Amino acid sequence: MTGTGTNAGESAAESAAKSAAKSAAKSAAKSAAESADEELRELADKQAALGEVRGTPAADPVNAPMIRHWLDAMGDANPAYLDRGVAPPAMAQVWTMQGVRPRGGKDGTPVDDVLTALEARGYTGVVATNCEQTYHRYARLGERLTPATRFAGLAGPKRTALGEGYFATWNVTWYADGDEPVAEMMFRVLKFRPRTRAAAAPAERREPYPLRPAVNGDTAFFWEGVRRGELRIQSCAGCGRLRHPPGPICPHCRSADRSYVTAAGDGTVYSYVVHHHPPVPGRPTPFAVAVVELPEGVRIVGNVVDCPPGEVRIGMAVRVTYRAMDDELTLPLWAPRES
Ligand SMILES: [Zn+2]
Repeated sequence: MTGTGTNAGESAAESAAKSAAKSAAKSAAKSAAESADEELRELADKQAALGEVRGTPAADPVNAPMIRHWLDAMGDANPAYLDRGVAPPAMAQVWTMQGVRPRGGKDGTPVDDVLTALEARGYTGVVATNCEQTYHRYARLGERLTPATRFAGLAGPKRTALGEGYFATWNVTWYADGDEPVAEMMFRVLKFRPRTRAAAAPAERREPYPLRPAVNGDTAFFWEGVRRGELRIQSCAGCGRLRHPPGPICPHCRSADRSYVTAAGDGTVYSYVVHHHPPVPGRPTPFAVAVVELPEGVRIVGNVVDCPPGEVRIGMAVRVTYRAMDDELTLPLWAPRES
């Protein structure tokens, strides 16, 4: 007979004491994560309680040129839309979409704070999982639509193939000039914590790193410095000015006599990009590439590591770190500096 209950010989009291101790240990270990979850749930409830929040009206009324472009892009040859002066229903979102740059003003929705809070807790990945649209009637030429957003709920944390994450759901309703709904959309995303790539892997595998810097007469001193753990900046032996990247001649005094100084290794992010696409050999995407300003007075380009790409910011304090990419190549990279 196989038993699933209390072991024979163990008293009920012993068993109860053991299980209490077990659950106490468990709850101590889980409490930090649980309180973070609790905070997220509270925020989600708060945002949901706001109900439907009206956004900024569309920048432009429903118009023929945009409808024409849409039909062209979709390969939709149906003349009915332009003939009747109505928009394809699936364009609903188009009319109120923000541009590449925020227009300013109050474009915020009840969803923003939830997504921001998720990102702050490491759920930086995002993938849209559901989109359901309901069309009440056609939007007509000349109508200016206004979106209204309602935060519908947060579910999680859940384990998914992408990593642990939360499903956030919201509804958008587009209203015509009055209070008449034209279209609705339910939208759901999974905000997930991307799996961390094993940092130790490169040290063990040592496959040749596919991206090699160009080492020549002008740059050899720089790469020699990197091998020694020094960040060397070229200087002019004539006027003493520093310059980077290294070159054959001083742009100020035209002297070809060169020297170098060793930088302290601190810097601040002057500008950056987060590279998502296309794929780069030997470098998992996304990754952040920054222009780092050194107190010595030059700027240098390098990848930012030890920090989720989405958390890199202009003005962020960084410090150089040297990473062996394979058995021969070391690259100077930049890591957040504790101030
Ligand atoms: Zn010079």
